[in-house]
Amino acid sequence: MRTLIIGGVAGGATTAARLRRMNENMEIIVFERGDYISYANCGLPYYIGDVIKDREALLLQTPKAMKDKFNVDVRISSEVVAIHPQKQIIEIKNLSTGEIYEENYDNLVIATGSSPIKPPLPGIDNQRIFSLWNVKDTDAIKEYIKEKAPKRATVIGGGFIGLEMAENLHTVGMEVTLIELQSQVMAPVDMEMANLLHENMVENGVKLLLGKGVSGFTEGNNEIRVQLSTGEEIGSDLVILSLGVRPNSKLAEEAGLKLGERKGIVVDEMLQTSDPHIYAVGDVIEVTGLVDGKKTMIPLAGPANKQGRILADNLSGHFKNRERAYKGSFGTAVVKVFDLNVASVGLNEKQLISQGLEKNKDYYTLLINQKSHAGYYPGATTLTLKLLFTSEGRILGAQIVGADGVDKRIDTIATTMRLNGSIYDLKEMELSYAPPFSSAKDPVNMAGFVAENILEGLIKFIEWNEVDELLLKGLRDTVILDVREDVERLAYSIPASYHIPLGQLRKRLGELDKSKLIIPYCAVGVRSYNAARILMQNGFSNVATLSGGTGFYRSMHYEKNIDEQSDATEENMGNINAINEENIENMSLDIMANRAIKVVDCCGLQCPGPIMKVNEALKQMHDGEVLQVCATDRGFATDVSAWCRRTGNTMLKSEKLEKGYQVYIRKGTENITNYSDAIEEQAGIRAVTQELPQNKTMVVFSGDLDKVLASFIIANGATAMGRQVTMFFTFWGLNVLRKDKKAAGGLVVKKSLIEKMFGFMMPQGSSKLKLSKMNMGGMGTAMMKMVMKKKNVDSLEVLIKQARDNGVKLVACTMSMDIMGIRAEELIDGVELAGVASYLGDAEESNVNLFI
Ligand code: FAD
Repeated sequence: MRTLIIGGVAGGATTAARLRRMNENMEIIVFERGDYISYANCGLPYYIGDVIKDREALLLQTPKAMKDKFNVDVRISSEVVAIHPQKQIIEIKNLSTGEIYEENYDNLVIATGSSPIKPPLPGIDNQRIFSLWNVKDTDAIKEYIKEKAPKRATVIGGGFIGLEMAENLHTVGMEVTLIELQSQVMAPVDMEMANLLHENMVENGVKLLLGKGVSGFTEGNNEIRVQLSTGEEIGSDLVILSLGVRPNSKLAEEAGLKLGERKGIVVDEMLQTSDPHIYAVGDVIEVTGLVDGKKTMIPLAGPANKQGRILADNLSGHFKNRERAYKGSFGTAVVKVFDLNVASVGLNEKQLISQGLEKNKDYYTLLINQKSHAGYYPGATTLTLKLLFTSEGRILGAQIVGADGVDKRIDTIATTMRLNGSIYDLKEMELSYAPPFSSAKDPVNMAGFVAENILEGLIKFIEWNEVDELLLKGLRDTVILDVREDVERLAYSIPASYHIPLGQLRKRLGELDKSKLIIPYCAVGVRSYNAARILMQNGFSNVATLSGGTGFYRSMHYEKNIDEQSDATEENMGNINAINEENIENMSLDIMANRAIKVVDCCGLQCPGPIMKVNEALKQMHDGEVLQVCATDRGFATDVSAWCRRTGNTMLKSEKLEKGYQVYIRKGTENITNYSDAIEEQAGIRAVTQELPQNKTMVVFSGDLDKVLASFIIANGATAMGRQVTMFFTFWGLNVLRKDKKAAGGLVVKKSLIEKMFGFMMPQGSSKLKLSKMNMGGMGTAMMKMVMKKKNVDSLEVLIKQARDNGVKLVACTMSMDIMGIRAEELIDGVELAGVASYLGDAEESNVNLFI
């Protein structure tokens, strides 16, 4: 019996080795067109990044070792150029000599894998463009880096190899740009999960160009210019093409074997092709997707290896009448992308939607944030887990992003799926636990609990983008309810949200309108779930909890956060450039030695833990003292800079650690205190100067036309000077923001008798305001309006519009609204609803605060 195998890496080498173990007498010949067999292609990016130092470590077998250990005849530099199924022979070209010869077979195995896609773009053959697929490619890239020392790399394609390359080129010191045609990297996960990766890549300094196609390449000025279809050009020293792969199925096609839609070889469960003597494994075949039963391509090493083993068992004859079958794949995959790991199994939501399935009917989703292990044990990091499931509890897919513990959770879910388990099994799964490894309720158990809660109707979620849509529409029948603590609100809050800390919710339920949609939110989703349960058991029928909490919501707006952070850093830090890392180190050592600095370890604490701890620590410190904080919570670095600005402290520096962040905060905003002066002088650094706040705030208490006019004139003047203005309308001032009768249309608002009376007696909108003096039954007011028109002074309505257009923050005091029975829908568009804490936060960042 003679078995020939085409391709000598993952699928081919595995088939050969297992076949020999099962059958000592079979003749086995492997043909490999490259110079190497059985090498670790998955390790190639890490060799380029110098993470794997030893090239030999990647070469797992040699032809000689295969001969000695397995008695397999391995012929490298041997390309199979034709298959003749009827004659059961193949033609082989010896690539060293050019000679073509034939070999006959009883069984033929095609394990030719796939090849990277290289589109016919202008300039694609430029010497600076590389693809990474095998050892030869790796050597070429490595050599180019060694010789030319490129500084700027552009990676085209955000699949897993593109991402690994981006990270490894960054590791060896290159400035990396990643271009991706789709609006997200890592296609197997959904957009919101990919956004977590985007945020982290940008934080790591990668220039991310999403939704942009490459149209060609030009060479000039000692660089390659990558041209985008938008007309932009990116100058680069090195380009990596990573646009996906296509199966090496041409040989099979020419031999008349049946191919699928995506040109994968069609095989049955025994991995037999349309010819009874020819089998195929690995990237070159199409497989059955185990969730939906549809044919798909899964170019991954795990399936290739498993298929090789199954096929070898069957070909060996050892298991007669007990043949093994390859049922299909869930596409379980995991990748490291800078500080995060991302993993997926099964179908994602994009795929479900493309199959015409409807959310909350045909499938359900959940998104939770959990710790990788017990929060109180050092080093815990956040895992974000998305699960897709049906109303019967069948798991359709899962995606996880986090710094730690991602792989074991996705594997647990993949195993459950493989064993036909459901969300109820996730719930009951008994998983190992000790603080360094997990929590008593593992994230996988939690996913099961939450999934069950959803199916039982105990909780309903609303997604971040749905909240954004509501915000854009103006929150007519919706209350976004912040149930976090005051201190957290100082760091960040969702615009126009109403604040009732969870602990006060039961007592303050009267402040909320039962007819509206209430969206409780907190930092990660635990308190908001508790809030939702309180609300739902107290007659609120329309409650939807914000999925993922503020941490996740902020990551979805990562571009804005990063802009804000860098603005804040520039604004707040003044001469911070003078504080280099060494100096900070010296400083902290100095201060530590004098026991003057405080070090707070918030690693493992989830929001709001770190901010609370920082708040407590600073209370115990003196002005000018420096606090060093380390935290692993993803939102902490963003939150803390805003929190410092609002609380009158100075964020000196934020640096990224391997897992998490280290932040230095100086208590107070004084330029130099004697204390810090001395320390900084000792450490040889210049003092950090704090820029004075420049914003303006106004409390508009009055509803008198003249006073309101004055307030808008000042506000518009301040915005013209480039200042941020907040106008906080309270009591009579709220009337300014009321829609007039015409704008309100037929709006009917349910009110109590007293509220109705208030509404009736108070002026409805800016056009109905009267002068504070000389109103004379309305004559004075009419005269004033006439004179203003004559003298070309804008009317109040025009001034209000200008203010809105200029970005003046118009805030309606929720407490006064409640007292006066004014509802949000009665107010003009673009008004935020907030409490005193929010106004005070803005006032602390201002140098002018008027009461009108
Ligand atoms: P291959 O391993 O590619 O082997 C096919 C072989 O066939 C090639 O050596 C080719 O030269 C040879 N061949 C083709 N045509 C002929 C011919 N006519 N005659 C003779 N020889 C021929 N997968 C994961 O699961 N996890 C990872 O982390 C991961 N990382 C990867 C990183 C990189 C850089 C690359 C390139 C791949 C990675 N993969 C990963 C994918 C994984 O390596 C492949 O899915 C797997 O190797 C496929 O096995 P295969 O046997 O089908 O093909």
